[in-house]
Amino acid sequence: MNPLDTIKQKIDTLNQFEDHQKDEKGSILKEIDEFLGKITKPMETREQRFKDLHIPPSVERLEPKNEEEIQKIIQDAYNDKEPTIVRVIGASHSLPSAILTARDIPKNVKAKLISLTKFRGVVINDAEQIATALAGTNLGQDLENEDSTIENGLLYQLNQRGYSLPDTGGIIHQTVGGFISTGSSGGSVIHSLFESIIGIRIIDGTGKIHDLKMSDTDNSKFLAVGVSMGLMGIITKVTFKLDKKFFITGTQTISPIKPLSRDINVGAPIDMFGDGDKDQQIPSLLDFFSNSMDFDAEFNRILWWPQDGVDRLTIWKAKKILTVDGTDLPVNPYELFPEVLNSQVPAQLAASLILKVLNLAQSPNKVFKKIAVFLYAAFNPIGSQSFQDIWWSGLPMDDKLDSKILPVAFSEFWLPLDKSKEVMNDLQQLFKNNPESIGNMFVEIYCAKKSPFWLNPSYETDSVRFDFTYNLGDPCGTPEEHYNYYWKILKKHTFRCHWGKYKPEYYNKRIPSLYPKFKEWMDIREELDPKQIFPDLTLKQLK
Ligand SMILES: Cc1cc2nc3c(=O)[nH]c(=O)nc-3n(C[C@H](O)[C@H](O)[C@H](O)COP(=O)(O)OP(=O)(O)OC[C@H]3O[C@@H](n4cnc5c(N)ncnc54)[C@H](O)[C@@H]3O)c2cc1C
Repeated sequence: MNPLDTIKQKIDTLNQFEDHQKDEKGSILKEIDEFLGKITKPMETREQRFKDLHIPPSVERLEPKNEEEIQKIIQDAYNDKEPTIVRVIGASHSLPSAILTARDIPKNVKAKLISLTKFRGVVINDAEQIATALAGTNLGQDLENEDSTIENGLLYQLNQRGYSLPDTGGIIHQTVGGFISTGSSGGSVIHSLFESIIGIRIIDGTGKIHDLKMSDTDNSKFLAVGVSMGLMGIITKVTFKLDKKFFITGTQTISPIKPLSRDINVGAPIDMFGDGDKDQQIPSLLDFFSNSMDFDAEFNRILWWPQDGVDRLTIWKAKKILTVDGTDLPVNPYELFPEVLNSQVPAQLAASLILKVLNLAQSPNKVFKKIAVFLYAAFNPIGSQSFQDIWWSGLPMDDKLDSKILPVAFSEFWLPLDKSKEVMNDLQQLFKNNPESIGNMFVEIYCAKKSPFWLNPSYETDSVRFDFTYNLGDPCGTPEEHYNYYWKILKKHTFRCHWGKYKPEYYNKRIPSLYPKFKEWMDIREELDPKQIFPDLTLKQLK
């Protein structure tokens, strides 16, 4: 029997059960997932992808426990008569080529890969309201690393002492060093973790230690090193200015993307493609980001599911609440994965199933398309969810994502906010002409506050970010094939790419013109790493 017919048959069986027959429904869903598992390629995990790079066994993997050991590794590499390169890895949540690939190791060159997993810790100074974290400390917990716990994560420890940082990314598995080195950011033009960074300690390519501060009279090294992808040295400590801990309150709504309506059952509360609707008091996307406080959305994130028949918008937004006396508020956490058809099947498993079936939305067969849309609707029903949480567990709304069940690859473009409408319309055209280009995922649309760090993708510009996602469990295509649609259609725009995610090949040549301080950044790199023991062949070609 055709695999798609088999799925349809199973779904028909599923529909024969009443709502209260939860176990029966659960077991059919499980059967469908197992069946889909058989007909699709096995999912890759990040670790597997990392292994796939075939880094030769000659690459020395090191886990220094203190700064002296890190310094010695660098000094040995610097003084070695044979050419030696050093790379550092955080939680390895970036695209592996942002860390080290076999391609980056020239013949006859020794390579050392340093993990800072044994180099973690946080010191909080109450008098100055600052905290210094060792760079291997995870922000939250990295479930794939046994050294990492919630309790030894930076954010938990800050919260326990009554403090907070301004914002987090959508997940908090990353290390302090990896997060800042790639210019990672949460969705807000009001708050940014980068504005709390006041000190960075780095060991350069000669083994020399630099304590760099935002307040330095000449703070150019501080601004260069902040986002430097491990190319100027190894960051060992980061010092943050702390705020009082806070709570967030917010909503997530799921609505059709068209027409415009303040009633989410009817249409979208944001005009994603136009200039807004004054009569209905509906903002444009630009307005929503630029005046986010007016929409209780100082933290925000939008997912667009443009599959034919699906066409939905998921808007997550939250605002800060501070209690005058610092008392805790009741917590009602955001739920990333709702229950599916009242099933007891673990929700993420169900989500992985829905995503696979969502490929059917592109099928010319109307029945298959209907199945996909039906399942999608069950997974992402139109409606609204309210939540209230403490800052560090509420802001990273995707933190419960298990990358083994739902491994995702990304390619992310940052542009000035006023490009929001133009890019949305280009994407709409793309999905109309090439419906297959969306695959079985969504486009994530969020923003970032302008940053003074020279190579931050939001350097001096409040930015809108289009994050193109590819489910690594997708039976169709590869990340590159998927992204090619976007890389082609958006080529005409001047965008900056997220440093830790997939980039188009043509992008490298553009980098010098995209960052006004790029030359100065390269000069500082030359000074800090004269022998280029921290290699990046891409940037070398640009000199
Ligand atoms: C599921 C998922 C969700 C994500 N969500 C977001 C998000 O919401 N917002 C966002 O902006 N990004 C997001 N990202 C991207 C992620 O934040 C970045 O890739 C980040 O760099 C990962 O940190 P890491 O600790 O894993 O660093 P790694 O990926 O291990 O390393 C990244 C880079 O930093 C360098 N580096 C690491 N440590 C140091 C150090 N101590 N000194 C010098 N250089 C160092 C490495 O050499 C490498 O070049 C997400 C990624 C995933 C997989």
